[in-house]
Amino acid sequence: MNNIILIKNAELYAPQRLGKMDVVIAGGRIAAVGNDFNLAGSNLPVTVIDASDCYLTPGFVDSLVHFIGGGGEGGFATRTPEMQLTDATLGGVTTAVGVLGTDATTRTLTNLLAKAHALDSEGITTYCHTGSYEIPCRTLTGNITDDLILIDKFIGVGEIAISDHRSSQPTTDEIRKVAAAARVGGILAGKSGVVSVHMGAGERILLPIYQAVAGTELKLKQFYPTHMNRNRRVFEAGLEFATKGGVIDFTTSTTDFDLQHGEVAAAAALAEALEFGIKPMQLTLSSDGNASLPIYNDEGELLGLQVGSVQSLYQSARQAITQHKVSLSDAICSITAAPAAILGLKQKGRIATGLDADIVLLRRDDLAIDTVIAKGKLLVQQGEALVKGTFER
Ligand code: ZN
Repeated sequence: MNNIILIKNAELYAPQRLGKMDVVIAGGRIAAVGNDFNLAGSNLPVTVIDASDCYLTPGFVDSLVHFIGGGGEGGFATRTPEMQLTDATLGGVTTAVGVLGTDATTRTLTNLLAKAHALDSEGITTYCHTGSYEIPCRTLTGNITDDLILIDKFIGVGEIAISDHRSSQPTTDEIRKVAAAARVGGILAGKSGVVSVHMGAGERILLPIYQAVAGTELKLKQFYPTHMNRNRRVFEAGLEFATKGGVIDFTTSTTDFDLQHGEVAAAAALAEALEFGIKPMQLTLSSDGNASLPIYNDEGELLGLQVGSVQSLYQSARQAITQHKVSLSDAICSITAAPAAILGLKQKGRIATGLDADIVLLRRDDLAIDTVIAKGKLLVQQGEALVKGTFER
């Protein structure tokens, strides 16, 4: 059962800065936000948290995670492992969106959906995208529109791969059909119907999206390209896309090899995009957690492989603040309000009365994660997991 929780005297970032506030949580929701609340005489079972030393932010929203692992670019032994509950919670993530990846043959939507339900019952909120890297997309019911209407957890489609040697080299028409199906499914189900786009390192960059939108009623804003910090050219193409009104996503999981070979670190990308004049609500970070991070040489041969980490989401936001002078509010926006908005998650990503009680307390001195509350339940306190996944020790 969820207790009533009273958080006292936190410096509140909703994600906009609201100053010193108290927050009351009841029934899994934010019941009240204000000053000087006192429930001492109420005779209710209340847990009081003194947060005078903390910033209070919304729980983090990770818009792209491979819940059931991904990859396999180096053969079966390189298929990456599943995510566990504390991979998310110890990194402040209380909402995550699961996707398939390069491999939609041995990784399936049924398995993804089952894992999403498991993580949900363990404590966080999960959603998924239907579809796959390849087009025609893998679906559960045989049809993207039906998947979005009939399956609660499906909120969009993707990540579909473009400008990548691992893509299905989709035609303009194929991309149009996917976006149109997601649009109709989204409208009828009251969901975003967003098209998550995996951006490869190919020369064409966003051209396939522009070609798909041209001459149709599709909107650029329905496409949500990720890995837009993959290299300098892709990053600059992303700035242009955002200038036209789109939302772009930077991937926080990385390797030293990638950073030495032209990847723009997500924290630096966020700082530079803000400096360029892109609005905070058009910039998001996602972890690409549990993805494979393959390292290729110029001939396309696989040199090695690492695993993406959900906790890199928080680490990159922190780095943006501490090393790149991004304001706390803007950095937090990129992992809360901005992804929640593009994904159409109205109960998530902000602190306001009536919204889901997903909350992170960051220590003011070092920005370490102290407390994580998801759906009104304390999952992390003093940086330690109070709740673990079913098979975690
Ligand atoms: Zn991807």
